[in-house]
Order: sequence, then structure tokens, then C-alpha cells
Amino acid sequence: MRSPADMQTIQIDITNACNKACSNCTRFCGNHKKCFFMDFDTFKRAVDSLEGYNGVTGVMGGEPTLHPEFERFVLYLREKFGERKETNRMIYPQKEFIKEIRRREFESHVLREGEDGTGRDCGCGNFKMYGPGLWSNMGDTYPKYYELIQDSFNVQFLNDHINASYHQPGLFSRKDLGIPDEEWIPMREKCWIQNEWSATITPKGAFFCEIAGALDMLFDGPGGWEIEPGWWKRKPEDFGGQLHWCEICGFALDTFMRDAGEEVDDVSPTLYEMLKKIDSPRLKKGHTNLVKIENGVISKESKAPTKGFAAVSVAQPYIEHYEDRFNASNSHLLVHKYSTVHIPEGDDFGVALNKALAEADAWILFFDNGDRALGERAKAEIDGLISKYILNPGTLHLAEGYRFFSKNALSLRKLGFDRIAHSRSFDDIQKAWQKEKVVPLGDIGELTKWKRESIIPGKRYVIWGTGLSGSFIADAVEHSGGKLVFAIDIDPSKDGNDFYGYVTHQPSYLNEHMDDFDYMIIGHYSRFEEIHQQALEAGVEDSKILRPYEI
Ligand code: SF4
Ligand code: SF4
Repeated sequence: MRSPADMQTIQIDITNACNKACSNCTRFCGNHKKCFFMDFDTFKRAVDSLEGYNGVTGVMGGEPTLHPEFERFVLYLREKFGERKETNRMIYPQKEFIKEIRRREFESHVLREGEDGTGRDCGCGNFKMYGPGLWSNMGDTYPKYYELIQDSFNVQFLNDHINASYHQPGLFSRKDLGIPDEEWIPMREKCWIQNEWSATITPKGAFFCEIAGALDMLFDGPGGWEIEPGWWKRKPEDFGGQLHWCEICGFALDTFMRDAGEEVDDVSPTLYEMLKKIDSPRLKKGHTNLVKIENGVISKESKAPTKGFAAVSVAQPYIEHYEDRFNASNSHLLVHKYSTVHIPEGDDFGVALNKALAEADAWILFFDNGDRALGERAKAEIDGLISKYILNPGTLHLAEGYRFFSKNALSLRKLGFDRIAHSRSFDDIQKAWQKEKVVPLGDIGELTKWKRESIIPGKRYVIWGTGLSGSFIADAVEHSGGKLVFAIDIDPSKDGNDFYGYVTHQPSYLNEHMDDFDYMIIGHYSRFEEIHQQALEAGVEDSKILRPYEI
């Protein structure tokens, strides 16, 4: 167990309404007779209470974008955290949406040196994700707020649940498994959720663990600690009565996992009775599997057949690859239809545009003239674009002879009906559009490249670490004019593998190749002190080694 101050994220659960009904949801969605929606004052208090906290302030559900005041909440976060400083590459069409989201997460890391000791002790010198974060399943309401979300959140944890992901039963009692206190206390201490994930704030207070908060909501518990500044500095010895929620929680137990898409909750007998008492709608619908336990052993036929696991492992591998959280070819985020509009310049332009906006689909292909050949070319180009790229509805996309935009763009909303009515041509509209969101549809690949000024063109670089972080850094080296010469990975199974057209080697390879490179960049944004040490031991000069926050 650890203090919330040492966690990477503290969540604010703004609703438990959800458009999905996943198996073994951590918020027990579908079991509540009535969903909650946090009010604005509580949200404001929750955000303010985290003043001085060193990590991510998470906005969580259910599906948070279902909250009717989502926009107001996000604008408050913006007020608190300010505008994002780095270039918002999400304004450009995205072919690798989920990779770009991860890259932003990487960029959101800030070095938090000289703190008061409340920073997370991850051996990473307090190089941590920081700022507002969003947890979403990208349902129908996510596209509605796409622009606002990309403008506001430093990190997003997205899972569209289209690909399989696996959830462990949460509504499970250790007593039903006959686990005695002496075994249970160490298990609880090692609970992977509390040790890897988050504390939370619900409308009923602040909790040392997000599951405790969700259980308190479901079973109408006594509520959490007062939402006041610094509540999150409490230490495990201060958790007191809140620990009783662990007694009816399955996450520290060694059970099994079920595919979220099966939409079945696995519950132990005690929890089954508790769900009956609260008249759980999900149980009534027959979406609850009462797990049979004999002599402390879960019967084989009671377990979901899909996946086994060890509950006390450090991190829960509930989805195989991060990229699997998003199915690009089957996404709500793609533009599926659009209207075509041409309005001649002149006194009537604005009135006609307002009428067209009212009648059109969300996305509009606007022609500068009524030329038929232009129309056919434009449609072919746009159809090609929208089949592969996810577009930001806040961006005005420009091409020769036409423009492509969404009528839901914040720039248009800010202009408002009256100012649109007074415009004489689309150029008037374009002049009032948020400048950085007017983007030519030229070489999208070039526009979306991840470049870093700290990479010196012509210098030779080695990357130590060939995971996702290493791949971001390789992009940065290549796109900024540096020369990648080879990669190092301590994992022997990667020896000889291709990495961006270069070869991955074991650290021993460095012995004979110290002069082949000018700089070595550590391609890992949490374990870099450990890798730094390994590189020094392998004989690399300290002055050649760059940490990820130095590029
Ligand atoms: S999408 Fe998330 S919150 Fe919604 S039911 Fe699934 S696991 Fe629960
Ligand atoms: S057992 Fe459950 S309530 Fe207790 S710390 Fe773990 S996840 Fe939280």
C-alpha cells in the first residue's frame, strides 16, 4: 500500500454512467439502480484539493464524456492547468491516432525536482506525467468533445473495448475463499491496483483506492474523507476504516480474468447476496455469474475460460498491447459522411452559410466555386483522407479550391450565428478561425512528424531501449536530421532484431563500437536511471548519455 501522494494518478470519478457493460468493470457499472453525476462544486473542490500533487489529475467514469457538464469541467481544468505549451499535433489528421496519444503522454512528463519528498519514488528522478488526464472508452460522446479533449488533456488512457481486454472479478470476498487474516494482510498489502493505480474522489469524498470509492458508491457506504486540500498526503497507517472495503474486493485475490466483451460479472457468494439486497439491475438481467467455491477453491466450471493470471503480479496484463485499445478501422472517430456546399461570395453569403450549417451533416466539404471537375477531384481526395485518418473537428483543412471542416468546430461556435450571418465570403470565416487550427492538407506525413530541436543534425545516435518510448525517440532522431546507427536492448530475445532499419544489439556490442556514435539516448521514460547506470558500466562516457527529458 502507498500514500496517494506517491501515485502517478489521482482520479476524480465524475459519473458511473457508461455506454458499455464490460465484464467485471472496476466501477461496477450496470449494478447501480441510478447513476451518479458529480456536481460542479464538488468537481471544483476535488481539483482544488489536489493543489501541490505531483501527478495526473484524472477525469474518470463510467464514461466521463457522458456527463452533461463535461465541457464545463474540462474548462475548469484548463483554467487550473493552463493551455498546453507544446505544439498540439492532434490538430492534424492522424493516421496513427493511438501512437500519437502515447507520444503526448511521453511529452507530458515533466521533471519535478526538489519537491518535498511527496514525489513518486520510481527511481526516475521525479520525471513524471503531469497535468489533466482523461480515461474514456471513446464512445459516441468522445467525438463530440474531440477538439476540447485534444486541447485540454495532457494524457489520455483510451480503450474502445473493440479488441479483447481482460478484467478480473472485483466483487469478491476473501472470506468466501476462506483466506485467513495472516495470509490476507500481506496479500492486501501487495494489491496491484493500490500499488500501481489510483486513489480517487467521488461525490461522497476522497478514498485511498479507486475501488474502495466505487464500492462505497455501490453499497451506499459512509463516504470518504473530506475533499480538502492535502487529503492525499495521508499514509497507509492513516487509511483506517476505509480498508474495510478490501474485505469485499477481489483485486488482491488470485482468481481469474474474463473478456470484458462477454458482459458478465463474476461474483463470490457474499457479494451475490449484497447485490441482491441493492436490487442490482445487472444481476436481474442475468449478467452475473455466481462463482462456486468449494473448500476455498473456485470450481473449474465457474471460471471464465478465456484467460488465467496471477493476481499478485506487479502489473495486471489485462490487455496484450497498448495499441489494441483502439481499432482504427472500426472507429467512431472516423468521418463516415459529409455534405458538400458551395455558396457564392456576396451580401447573402453569411445567411446562406447559416442555413447550410443547420441542414448539413457534421462535416462539410466547401467548394470555392461550383466547378464540376473540382468537385470530383475534391471528393476523391477527401474520401481517401477520411478512410485512413482521424480528423480534428476543430481544424479547418485547406486544399486547392476547397475546404473541409466540421460545423461543430469551436471556432465556428465562437463566431456565432450573427457574425456568421454578416460574413461575405468563406475568407471572412477563415480569418476568424483559431489560427493554429487552419491547416493545409498538404504533406500530412511532414506535418505530423515528431521533431526535437535538441537533436543535432548529422550526429550519430544510439538508442538504448527498443520499446514504445525508444520508438518515439527513434522518430525524433530520424525526423530531426540525426543519424540512428544501432540500438541496444538488454533483452536477449531482441538481439539482432530490426529497429527502424537498424540492428538491435546486446550491451556487450558496445565494447568494440564506442566510436561509432556521438550520443546514446536512453529510450525509457521511467527506468532511465537504472539504464544510465548500465550504460556507464558498459563503458559509455557519461557526457555521451542523454536522458529522455534532455531531448
Ligand atoms: S467502459 Fe470502462 S467504465 Fe464502462 S463498463 Fe467498461 S470498464 Fe466499466
Ligand atoms: S483490495 Fe480492493 S479496495 Fe483494497 S486496496 Fe486493493 S483494490 Fe483497493
